[in-house]
Amino acid sequence: MSRVVPLISTHNLTRSYQVGSETINALRGIDMTVSPGQFIAVVGRSGSGKTTLLNILAGLDKPSDGQVLFQDRDLGTMNEKELTEIRRHKIGFVFQSFGLLPLLSAFENVELPLRIAGVRTREREARTRETLEIVGLWNRAKHRPYELSGGEQQRVAIARAIVNNPPLILADEPTGELDSTNARAIFGLFKDMVKAQGISVLSATHDSTLLAMADEVKEIRDGKLSDATNLGHRYRD
Ligand code: ADP
Ligand code: MG
Repeated sequence: MSRVVPLISTHNLTRSYQVGSETINALRGIDMTVSPGQFIAVVGRSGSGKTTLLNILAGLDKPSDGQVLFQDRDLGTMNEKELTEIRRHKIGFVFQSFGLLPLLSAFENVELPLRIAGVRTREREARTRETLEIVGLWNRAKHRPYELSGGEQQRVAIARAIVNNPPLILADEPTGELDSTNARAIFGLFKDMVKAQGISVLSATHDSTLLAMADEVKEIRDGKLSDATNLGHRYRD
């Protein structure tokens, strides 16, 4: 039987920061695999290394030691051009604070990655519309971010992240600024996208009430990753 190539995997992923004479070991040897069509939640307290992990997976930061393989190719051996190519076409990133451009409408925000990728007008418009429909916001296409609720802004940000059809979405506490209803809606959207489009989602969160919606939950603690069990008691605020 042929092996299913993981979308992304890490081997002994390590990242330390030198601050003055102090060394901070943010990641201490992480081994993980994300397969196509998987929704994985990474839970961990503030300062546990979630952002560091996601940034390295996205090729935005480099490990001190260890490897990241994207579809079996080592990110560490790629030049800037190849990394940009992966960030543009293979990975959609969703931030806690949405990161939409305030002067652009929802439509224009979602369309932007297609412009950058040089997609022609007609196809750009069709794909932008289709993606806004997936997140349920076609009726808000002309609104600027400040005319949208937090939950709606995050759905626009997710539309922007998926408009290029990347196989992987990385989300860094995407529900951190949302109330519990909107937070559930965002995780529900991830769940649906994984099912309907076969993409993979890796989302950091510190909200234990969302974890049941993921296929798999990993806990990051002191820079180490493990399978999470019985987290409710530890992450209840
Ligand atoms: P989380 O996202 O889980 O809150 P982070 O990945 O942001 O955690 O941080 C993990 C650890 O690394 C923390 O102790 C943090 O203070 C430290 N850290 C993160 N970024 C830097 C940096 N640029 N310089 C020094 N220390 C950092
Ligand atoms: Mg963080």
